[in-house]
Amino acid sequence: MADLSDDLRLLADGLAVGIIRLDHELIVRYANPAAHLFAGRQPGMLIGRSLMEAFIDHRIEELAELAHRSGAANSELTLRSADGPSLVVRARRAADGRATWLTLEDVSELRRLQRIRSEFVDNLSHELRTPLTNVSLLAETLVRESEAAGEQIPARMRDRISKIEVETGHLVQMVSELLDLARIESGRPMLLLDQVDLARLAAASVDRLRLFAERQGVQLVVEVPGAGVPAVRGAEERLGQVIMNLVHNAVKFSPDGGDVTIRVEERAPDVVVSVEDNGIGIPRRSQDRVFERFYKVDRARVRGGGTGLGLSIARHVVQGHGGRIWVVSEEGHGSTFSFALPIADQLGTPE
Ligand code: ADP
Repeated sequence: MADLSDDLRLLADGLAVGIIRLDHELIVRYANPAAHLFAGRQPGMLIGRSLMEAFIDHRIEELAELAHRSGAANSELTLRSADGPSLVVRARRAADGRATWLTLEDVSELRRLQRIRSEFVDNLSHELRTPLTNVSLLAETLVRESEAAGEQIPARMRDRISKIEVETGHLVQMVSELLDLARIESGRPMLLLDQVDLARLAAASVDRLRLFAERQGVQLVVEVPGAGVPAVRGAEERLGQVIMNLVHNAVKFSPDGGDVTIRVEERAPDVVVSVEDNGIGIPRRSQDRVFERFYKVDRARVRGGGTGLGLSIARHVVQGHGGRIWVVSEEGHGSTFSFALPIADQLGTPE
């Protein structure tokens, strides 16, 4: 066959990735053994068929049609039944337009391991949360009692008790962020049921952090248009968490006497929330990485601890809403974290 040289065919025969070549009418002209395996067909049985006939699945055919029209298309789908293989399918039109190539990669095992990992983290953090919350409450009580006892308790001991309280607070926070991340990553769809007024939500979230900001000597400023902003559709509690997280970080990385400005504005077709600080900033090489889980720019410069999970949760939540999140920052001058969510009408009806 003219499609592949003998050498390339030998290579394709041994690959675990399925390879299919379609002609300009989207009929299968070449398919390697792995492609036959995924389709559940005997060797050679895919040749001369349409993708619909080959896979009995309209999604692969639609993907190939899209690539045939636009040049490229990708998707991940589970074949046949819910427990069939999960495949990442990539379709590319050849430069001369006469062929479209498909690759099919089995990611079932990867997805299974990801599920096990996130169930493990979910169970573990769930089990840790109750005893830790109890310890944290006990530590709080101890602090109150030791303060009330005054000189009866040596200063060094009071100091240690308050350190125990602060550290257990961090542990509780860490476990609850781990739990959030595991839930979000488990792939259970986020319910986007609320009509969310981001201007109101931002003001409410900022109010909850005022005391924390005051203690750090940082002033919080909220700027929203007088006429308000259009609603977005989403999970209000989760979006509130995202805003709190960005503001919390902005305060944490600001100098004493710094300002943090929270802006909410309409930039059709989106509503954009941004949180600007004039703190330590983020070096260029780390700007993409801060959204990865557990990533911290420099462990030594964090005051008040932190898990490195906050921004990764924020990115999951924003992307789960069909939005984008990004940062613009200059080291030594400050950072602006922003996210954009589509205005409610443009999302269409929720499924
Ligand atoms: P955490 O704050 O718990 O460490 P995040 O995921 O929220 O975790 O942030 C990851 C890292 O990104 C932080 O440790 C810090 O290094 C950097 N970062 C986040 N926000 C800012 C900010 N406003 N200014 C400077 N660095 C920041």
